[in-house]
Amino acid sequence: KKEIPKFLKDNLDEEQLDAVINSNGNSLIIAGPGSGKTRVITYKIAYLLSQGVKPSEIMLVTFTRAAAKQMTDRIRNVTDQDLTGITAGTFHHVCNGILRRYAKAIGYENNFSILDSEDSKDLLKIIRNEYKEGMGEDAKKFPKESVIQKVISYASNTLKSIRESILEIAPYLIDYENDIEHIWGNYQEMKKNINAMDYDDLLVNTAHLLSFNKKALNDIASKYKYVLVDEFQDTNKIQLEIVQAISSYSKNLIVVGDDSQSIYSFRGARYENIEEFIKRDDTKLFKIQTNYRSTPNIVSFINNMLPNNSVEKNLKSVRKEYVKPNIIETFDDLEQSEAVIKIIEEKIDQDVDLNEIAVLYRSHALSMTLQQKLDSQQIPYRLLSGKRFIETKHIKDVLSFLKILYNPYDNISWNRSLKLFSGIGVKTATDIYKSITSQFKEGINMLEAFKNSKLKKFKEAYEFYKKLFEKDKNKPDEIINFIFNEFYKEYSNLTFRNSASRNMDIERFQDISSQYESLMKFLEEMTLSENITVKSAERDQKEDQITLTTVHGAKGLEWKVVILLSVNPGDFPNGMAIKEKKLDEEERLFYVAITRAKDELYILKQITGSTNPFMSNSYVFVKKEYDFIKNIPENLVETFKTSYKY
Ligand code: ATP
Ligand code: MG
Repeated sequence: KKEIPKFLKDNLDEEQLDAVINSNGNSLIIAGPGSGKTRVITYKIAYLLSQGVKPSEIMLVTFTRAAAKQMTDRIRNVTDQDLTGITAGTFHHVCNGILRRYAKAIGYENNFSILDSEDSKDLLKIIRNEYKEGMGEDAKKFPKESVIQKVISYASNTLKSIRESILEIAPYLIDYENDIEHIWGNYQEMKKNINAMDYDDLLVNTAHLLSFNKKALNDIASKYKYVLVDEFQDTNKIQLEIVQAISSYSKNLIVVGDDSQSIYSFRGARYENIEEFIKRDDTKLFKIQTNYRSTPNIVSFINNMLPNNSVEKNLKSVRKEYVKPNIIETFDDLEQSEAVIKIIEEKIDQDVDLNEIAVLYRSHALSMTLQQKLDSQQIPYRLLSGKRFIETKHIKDVLSFLKILYNPYDNISWNRSLKLFSGIGVKTATDIYKSITSQFKEGINMLEAFKNSKLKKFKEAYEFYKKLFEKDKNKPDEIINFIFNEFYKEYSNLTFRNSASRNMDIERFQDISSQYESLMKFLEEMTLSENITVKSAERDQKEDQITLTTVHGAKGLEWKVVILLSVNPGDFPNGMAIKEKKLDEEERLFYVAITRAKDELYILKQITGSTNPFMSNSYVFVKKEYDFIKNIPENLVETFKTSYKY
């Protein structure tokens, strides 16, 4: 019998220990929220290292970049090992890493750009507008680029046809099946021409590479002895294919997940991945029944709220009794915010650390009134939801210069940056791009190409780009400094009312960039990180502040005090979901929300009903049957009504 290392015995229960030590081959650890799934995977890696497996032989796939970092920090702590060489990150990171090495094999250059969702929409817009030219009256009704994007992204992630995808997520577009098919084709071709991939391409191209390129598969599959995946319930078909290919030599694919917490079906996630894994003959199945996160009061509530169609679970809590979950009925949005402030102030009085308090909501818009209140009460908060820092106009503008320096064929970034100069519009920008890149293709160097292009006519822009292309590409901070001081500061001051704060963001952005040794590393981190938000960029991450996030953003996380806003039919469950009868996923989302709480859970609702503008339309009726908490046994919760002032 193997000797069990002390650091395992000290930190895991029997079921967890069994999962850590005996998982190999295809293994699935399926367990409810807060039962230590993430902990098991973390300790599994620590255990593997202690058995002599090298960090470079391990691939860990997590749902966020932050989770990967937390887990590797933890592993470093318990093993005291150097983890250099380990592959740990999200699917997008992992795939990006692979594609940088094998880009040529799929018809790309290694310095391909990554299009974020907005860039990809811009590109689709160009293609769509070109496509619908000459359609006359019909052009007016032609689907917008954003829904086209939704359909093709869904098709990519699920490996379904355009027809099937339309039927599943946008049936009203069925007459446009052929058009969308066409646009998709043009879009794929265009991306190759400009040497750019969108987020979905990172996955699709990796799966493709591994399926047809024997050498790539051989290199990669023989390198990794273990592939481990957290939050497996939210993987989609293509992600499953990728990890299966990578583990096809070692046969060690270890995944953990909870079918009740699958909340990304709109991105093609399928908890069927779990079901299929269970059904396979060679899968080892592990279950953990104990919840370590929440008090028994909260766990009883959780057990009562198990989503429809879930694998049966009955979690046991090991913690001491504390307080019951609170349901607080308020009048409206404003009164709700006041109630939340009251709770937070009470917690502050009790010396609860602000980092241990989170406010969750179904959609970002539901937090607006509360944000104003928090601002006026000077309660510091960080936002995990909302626009990411790098999605704001000023940061994207600055970034566009860096992106063309890295990949001169990136027409989206050329367009974006050229249009910042006075006198240059879409048409001119397109002409300039075409003339520069066609010369560039013929081997003429960038500076020569500038001289022979229409850009020459725009003196300011010409001088600027000329100097830009002479900069040292491996000093991103110097480049940003140059862009800002030689051009963007003035543009910003003339363009934005809040230029002072935007300029500060850019300085902060420059600061961040100084930590990167190359433009490539910096650009990758900026396009693939999920959590860089405006607020968190302004404030120090370590500062004591409460967290505001959507439920989606709260996945896998935990806080002592969780406050859940606007649990009104129409807000949560969301109005569209009610309309489209997609309530199972809303139930799972609600389950994810309530299972984040360690000690105290507050659920707020308003008697005036939804604040969602959708709901004022007559096509959705707010019905009690959509209320999550209508049938809660009274003994499980404590219900309060705030005094109605109106
Ligand atoms: P989720 O489904 O929300 O992702 P999870 O199953 O991944 O949850 P973890 O986040 O790993 O659960 O663990 C939940 C909490 O319980 C963490 O604070 C963790 O440190 C703690 N915990 C887990 N197992 C143990 C244990 N054996 N002893 C003490 N604490 C534990
Ligand atoms: Mg987890």
